Amino acid sequence: MTQAVFRFAPSPNGRLHLGHAYSALLNQQLAREIGGTLLLRIEDTDRVRCTPVLEAHMLEDLHWLGIEWDGEPRRQSEHSADYDEALGRLEAMGLAYPAFLSRGEAKRLVEQKSAEGHSWPCDPDGVPHYPGEERSFSAEERTRRIASGDPFAMRLDMERALSASGMASRQLCWQEEGSGPDGEQGEVIADPAVWGDFMLTGRDRSAAYHLACVVDDAIQGITHVVRGRDLFHATSAHRLLQQLLELPVPLYCHHDLILDSDGRKLSKSRADTSLGELRAAGATPQDIARMVGL
Ligand code: GLU
Repeated sequence: MTQAVFRFAPSPNGRLHLGHAYSALLNQQLAREIGGTLLLRIEDTDRVRCTPVLEAHMLEDLHWLGIEWDGEPRRQSEHSADYDEALGRLEAMGLAYPAFLSRGEAKRLVEQKSAEGHSWPCDPDGVPHYPGEERSFSAEERTRRIASGDPFAMRLDMERALSASGMASRQLCWQEEGSGPDGEQGEVIADPAVWGDFMLTGRDRSAAYHLACVVDDAIQGITHVVRGRDLFHATSAHRLLQQLLELPVPLYCHHDLILDSDGRKLSKSRADTSLGELRAAGATPQDIARMVGL
């Protein structure tokens, strides 16, 4: 049997909080229970929000908490060639297109269409689907716009991707070992269309989360993805990319989120649950484990 490989994959765009501690400790516990290894991946493709100082704090917090990972962490900002290669494959299949509207422009266009009476779907994060008028641009038009220096992100052409994936005839599934927001467990049927034409790269050409995540899970040989339930729906997008790029499919376990006293998801901007603050106030790693119920 192949060895189980887990990963903890935080983004150093703020201080780690109790929710991260829970996810890291749970990954470590589950890996140890079945004799697997734990890898650390630093998801820092957002070069504006992720800073070396925040990464240093993150590593310090994880060491303090007692998280032990195998080998060197994989830092996404050092592996853009891997994401470019995957993007190139999607482009060669005719499934990716340059999208020239900024988020604000896309939002305004959708508002205008809604005002005209068109109903417009939103993704699970509440963001309206990208209008995608560029899908029908000719190759010349795309080349002309790019050559003129117009900024663009790369997006997946969802409709084409769904047909290229063979989803019309066969459903994409994953094995859920935790549970989804509506109690989904066991074999879950993926529904990638809920994301519309999601981003593959940002306007700075750096890989977007879904693409970098599935490429890295495959390169790192991840067999068990254990992460917060807020990423449950993202797994539908991940299954589609895995199918298109012929990548292996790990098991998934979406775990409870640690909520604040008002029942809200913790945020990196709140100091009271940050590991740094709790440590400064005298908490021990054992206190943290107790606070998150482990
Ligand atoms: N980097 C993501 C986060 O910090 C986690 C991604 C994942 O576990 O797939 O929320």
